[in-house]
Amino acid sequence: MIPLPSSLRQTGQFLRQLLITYWLGSTLVISTALTLYDLWEHQKQTVREGQQITHLVASSLRIPMTSKQRQQLLESYTQTNRTQRFDRVNVTLVLDRSGKVAYSSRPAWPALPISDRLFRQMGQDDPDFSAVVQCFQRQDTSCMELRSEDWNLHLSGISIVRPVWMPPTDLGLPRQPFLVVVNFDAGMLISDVLQDVPWLVLISAMIAAVLAAGLWCVISARMLPQLVEASQTDALTQLMHRTPFMDLAMEVLAEAEERQGDLVFAILDIDHFKRINDTYGHGCGDAALASVGSLLLTVTRPEDLVCRFGGEEFAMLISAPREAGAKALERLRLQLEMNRLLYNGHNIPLTVSIGAAATAQCGYNVDFLYNSADKALYTAKRRGRNRLEWNDGELVSRLSLPSEMSR
Ligand code: GH3
Ligand code: MG
Ligand code: MG
Repeated sequence: MIPLPSSLRQTGQFLRQLLITYWLGSTLVISTALTLYDLWEHQKQTVREGQQITHLVASSLRIPMTSKQRQQLLESYTQTNRTQRFDRVNVTLVLDRSGKVAYSSRPAWPALPISDRLFRQMGQDDPDFSAVVQCFQRQDTSCMELRSEDWNLHLSGISIVRPVWMPPTDLGLPRQPFLVVVNFDAGMLISDVLQDVPWLVLISAMIAAVLAAGLWCVISARMLPQLVEASQTDALTQLMHRTPFMDLAMEVLAEAEERQGDLVFAILDIDHFKRINDTYGHGCGDAALASVGSLLLTVTRPEDLVCRFGGEEFAMLISAPREAGAKALERLRLQLEMNRLLYNGHNIPLTVSIGAAATAQCGYNVDFLYNSADKALYTAKRRGRNRLEWNDGELVSRLSLPSEMSR
């Protein structure tokens, strides 16, 4: 995992919460979609079963046999297949033109009229079944052409309604129509789907976890480094902010202390900056800050640290002993002095005062070095500005730093 700076920790937490929400949301959406798909598959299966029974009836009508034999065939077919495939079939009715049950999967039902109370009750929550009952009650001539839609899921009953014909005989009689009504127990279909739901949720959670992991990879590989960089960089000067600078400085100083390396901590403050703002406007002040920032970036080496400390102040940690550091800082001061700021046709002089402290004199505590350099900066301002001053202060024991210095 990418270590987040303190300013980004909340963003990191927010991202984690976002991912968890994304995972839960995706699980919900995927499991809903899979459940609906499962329901659709079960419904398709129901229609297939209804059509199989319709085909059976149609075939039996084509074969010469007695009504009793047809009735027995339907009974035995639905019974033998009930445990394996047609366990959701409630009843099969084959109605003749007058609306009477010609054949049925229930042995006692042939000869019953569809207008019977029993059928009216069955059709209560099943619009397709009730359409058949009502059609025959109205004595409508089109009842033998009724045909249910394939997608007709109702919570208590589903009926597949299909017309079939007995082929004409050699005597030239017209085709004899029948209406097959296969009624299913929708409760069983719903309970089959409900049984699948835990598995579907589990599969959805796994798919959503893969998606969330992919999203996290994209965020951590692309977005987070950019966020970290943006949070650590000052937009105006393109330099580091104070907090990451002090964190890094502490690490560099600790490492230098181990090998007794020499470092110089310096604070630069633009002279009479308020005057620049007041005379030429805030935009000019911003341009001055950007110009100093870009010069500092150009002159420092990769091993040096530089930041915008705040306002018109900059800080540097230079990897050099006091003498070499003094030369580098003096050169920098001169460069800034010569590098006049051109703004809206104005040629504006820009100078800085610098306060510096070296580890050889002030030790390796970052706060102590900062305070020492700041005191030197104050001296530089007092002594007329545009100059470099050192704080060669009291030599500090590295092992016994005053408690108020520790961060
Ligand atoms: P001194 O030589 O003693 O340092 O005087 P100074 O005018 O430079 O210092 P002072 O602290 O009086 O004023 C600093 C000004 O810097 C005040 C503030 O408005 C301005 N300032 C701070 N940040 C920004 C910034 O981002 N842009 C601009 N344009 N001005 C800024
Ligand atoms: Mg200042
Ligand atoms: Mg200033």
